Amino acid sequence: MSNDSNIALNDLTLEDLEKAFLDLGEKRFRAKQAFRRIHHHLARNLDDFTEFSLPLREKLKETNALPLLNCTESSLSSNGTEKYIFESPEEVPGRDGIRKRIFEAVWIVSDNQSGASEEKIRKTLCISSQAGCTLNCTFCATGTLPFIGNLRTYEILDQIYQIMALRAERITNVVFMGMGEPFHNYDNVIRAARILNHPDGLHLAARHITISTAGVVPAIHRFIDEKQPFNLAISLNHPDPEKRKELMDVTKKHSLEELMEAAIRYSRELKRRITFEYIMIPGQNMSEKDLQKLIGIARRVRCKINLIPLNTTLHGWRAPTATEMSRFQNALRQQGILAFNRGSPGKDVDGACGMLALKTMAQAKPSTAKTDSSKISRTSIG
Ligand code: SF4
Repeated sequence: MSNDSNIALNDLTLEDLEKAFLDLGEKRFRAKQAFRRIHHHLARNLDDFTEFSLPLREKLKETNALPLLNCTESSLSSNGTEKYIFESPEEVPGRDGIRKRIFEAVWIVSDNQSGASEEKIRKTLCISSQAGCTLNCTFCATGTLPFIGNLRTYEILDQIYQIMALRAERITNVVFMGMGEPFHNYDNVIRAARILNHPDGLHLAARHITISTAGVVPAIHRFIDEKQPFNLAISLNHPDPEKRKELMDVTKKHSLEELMEAAIRYSRELKRRITFEYIMIPGQNMSEKDLQKLIGIARRVRCKINLIPLNTTLHGWRAPTATEMSRFQNALRQQGILAFNRGSPGKDVDGACGMLALKTMAQAKPSTAKTDSSKISRTSIG
């Protein structure tokens, strides 16, 4: 009989699984079989471990479990982007009673308008690392939500596994750019990325996994020290040290200059191009002066800049027009800087950058329902 104190097998690395199986008096190779079942074949319960005898499966169930997220809703955008809402099976005590971690993931299909062949279509999943966020970036709806907690490794991975199963297709890229600051949940995020990259898991190439930070500088140095093979993106959003403090309060703790030094070190030591994300906000960070400062930053480090139009209407700010976007992008390109307009896939379902905040989150009630894809409510927009 399983209970809440059971070990979550889908939260463990292969090394941790080996220890768990040795502790059970089982052979080490059983751990690899279990790892492949969970992370390659995407097993949904211990009865899916068909390599194991029935008595071994029953023995496993006494002390181990495979907890799963509950996918409660999905919303389909007019361009094929789809947002999914997940609820953790775990309950956490909060000031206002028991809460559940609720968070979102967004499936983004790119290149599907340009006649790319099926093999070349990039299918990116933007996943969450926390329920809510303790940072308070002024342009981001997630920052306005109560923080419920860090996601466990299996909660990070199960967003991917469930969406792949629901859609019956494989992803090509994962970006940690959903709810939360990934480097405030460093250990679980890196463990999840390593499992995604593992040859006995999905075996997703490290260059197809991107972790984005608002600028938690000590964690960037740790990432470099550990020579992590994954891409790093920095949510930059303002090139001026003081004005960036107004947009992103993380800058009060870790200055823009410290952040730049970390970015330069990343590029120099890991020999990779850093990605800067730049949310375009007319009247805030798109002036000629801002442009020149941004050019100055881009000249200091091997980088590319992803320009993203503002998607929220917080503070009465507006989104840039297409002309404003292309003028800014062209000015960067004329200086030889790699700059891309990433647009707003999923805006019509509140799934675009900065929009991951649920109306439902504040009202979330505990639920014990297990995932049943036939019962997911799906909304189509557009
Ligand atoms: S942009 Fe990212 S780090 Fe900033 S508040 Fe939103 S989720 Fe948190």
